Amino acid sequence: MKIAVLAVQGAFIEHEKMLASLGAEVIELRKKKDVLQEFDGLVLPGGESTVQGKLIRELDMFDILKKKIEDGIPVLATCAGLILLAEKISNDTRKHFATLPVTVMRNAYGRQLESFYTEGDFGKLKNVPMEFIRAPYIESVGEDVEILSKVDDNIVAVKYNNQLAMSFHPELLSDTRIHEEFLGMLI
Ligand code: GLN
Repeated sequence: MKIAVLAVQGAFIEHEKMLASLGAEVIELRKKKDVLQEFDGLVLPGGESTVQGKLIRELDMFDILKKKIEDGIPVLATCAGLILLAEKISNDTRKHFATLPVTVMRNAYGRQLESFYTEGDFGKLKNVPMEFIRAPYIESVGEDVEILSKVDDNIVAVKYNNQLAMSFHPELLSDTRIHEEFLGMLI
């Protein structure tokens, strides 16, 4: 199983380490030639969605990745990655892949609460540790989007066909269950 991790900006190394610890082969997507390779799953890490969105266009990776997502490659997206997938960003005129029928709000927790930790359910998984860093949340979801987690009534994780997306950062903690769930989508 070969997993490609978008590695133009942000917290990609932590995803790579976690996936490798679970036995996956990991490659980094840094340039156009990297996205032309065959791979079985895609990770869109946290970071700064505006910077990532700009770089993937400038590096000419955007169309190829969008097509792969639309064609059904399993995707794990965290934080900025969720913003890259969202069909609509309520407080930004930009949009990126727009393959996930949700509306997200960037930096939704405001300056007072830039970062916080909590635990919650993630679909059938219980007491999943969740680290939020200048996180978005999901304001509304389209048809057929499965809501996996809510924190204080806000939607923070969803699944839609091949796309598993969340506001928080499972890769920064030691619980590997979400990454295992993602690898399970590849079988
Ligand atoms: N605030 C960032 C954005 O808007 C996301 C933060 C993160 O990925 N930790 O892109």
